[in-house]
Amino acid sequence: MYLTTTIPYVNARPHLGHALELVQADVLARHHRRRGEPVRFQTGTDDNSLKNVLAAEAAGVPVRELVDRNAAAFEGLRGPLDLSFDSFIRTSVRPGHRAGVERIWEATGHDLYQRHYEGLYCVGCEQFYPEGPCPDGHEAPLQRISEHNWFFRLSRYQDALSELIRGGRLRIEPVARRNEVLAFIEAGLDDISVSRSAARARGWGIPVPGDPDQVVYVWWDALANYVTALEGDDYDRWWVSERRKVHLMGKGVIRFHAVYWPAMLLSAGEPLPTEIFVHDYLTVGGRKISKSSGGAADPVALVDAYGVDAVRWWLLREVPRVGDADFTEERLVARADEDLANGLGNLVNRVVTMVHRFLDGHVPPAGEDLAAVPVDEALEAFDFRRAATAVWALVEEANRYVERTQPWRQPRAGQEAALGTLVHACRTLAVQLKPFLPTAAARVAAAVAGERLPRPEPLFRRLATAGVAG
Ligand SMILES: [Zn+2]
Repeated sequence: MYLTTTIPYVNARPHLGHALELVQADVLARHHRRRGEPVRFQTGTDDNSLKNVLAAEAAGVPVRELVDRNAAAFEGLRGPLDLSFDSFIRTSVRPGHRAGVERIWEATGHDLYQRHYEGLYCVGCEQFYPEGPCPDGHEAPLQRISEHNWFFRLSRYQDALSELIRGGRLRIEPVARRNEVLAFIEAGLDDISVSRSAARARGWGIPVPGDPDQVVYVWWDALANYVTALEGDDYDRWWVSERRKVHLMGKGVIRFHAVYWPAMLLSAGEPLPTEIFVHDYLTVGGRKISKSSGGAADPVALVDAYGVDAVRWWLLREVPRVGDADFTEERLVARADEDLANGLGNLVNRVVTMVHRFLDGHVPPAGEDLAAVPVDEALEAFDFRRAATAVWALVEEANRYVERTQPWRQPRAGQEAALGTLVHACRTLAVQLKPFLPTAAARVAAAVAGERLPRPEPLFRRLATAGVAG
């Protein structure tokens, strides 16, 4: 599976919404690797956005400096969030990205033409709108732009795109998003402007081949990363031969990925992605994430305060497949304490303690399976919450089993049977949890490893709200 996240603008440091998408992708990557499937997990940053230029001007620092600093913060999420991406592309740095963008530009040359253009531009969205204000809620007034641009004949691909999606060759999940894309396509596609004046872009970005007064539209540039990130043999391996090419993204950028990108690829004669999964947004304390969200929206500050398990677990277990989710530190603490400290931590601790008390630490033969754990099925549907909940059902079932069988009241044979089943359940949990909470899963695995168990140690601390938002 070739699995990508979107590459965010680097006009600011990463926030919890970026962490959500990265953690979701990480779960898929780890899950498929665990099943023995080859996986390439690709992420990176969109360095060439005009938004980056404006943010640097506002901060009074050179663009290069701001872009390098923020891009490093994105790449730096790898450690704190325990991410397993295989490749991180920065579009202003990766050798080959510019050449790749130029190659796609030239391959689509038969669909490119020049035209005078006037329209209202939202820098926040990096796109034109017929009228203001920005439908996505950006407050800066739209700019009236009048310039000479390159256009791409998107209109030519209306029927092909519609067939692609209706026929299932491009799967879009959830289905409401698929229907939204189809409605947009079938209402009629206009050609799109795919360049900007180099002057307006302050010279930042990739010049249009053969027309240095224009730079390539940043979305064209950014979308190309899914291909340009694959250098040498990797291109054939992951873009031409791979059966599953999956793009993860937030709901705000679906049109770029499900309409513009496949049309560009069709025009260039390139293979297409096969799946698109669209997540909704996070709010923090009931508000859209912004600079004023402070530390509560900073994934690294949250990991410092609560640990990576609690942060990943909240993102996976609380965020629904459809609909926005609201983050608060209280919710993170409540979820971690209930599930990790009380649920899983207690279970493993009780089981290991009983094995020591009654069986001198010796593990009896594995007993029955307590519950099915349908993680595969839930992750096939990109339903991370259902998958995490499925793992949780086994914790709950095992805790109920302890109460029901009461091994401390059993004769030796009964203790062996019950604890055999319970150790087996803990080992299954360690395996099933691995994609979700890799470090916690390793601790659980170590606690129940071997023929004679190590002494019980607490696996999770109980958390208290740290108020990192302050
Ligand atoms: Zn906007």
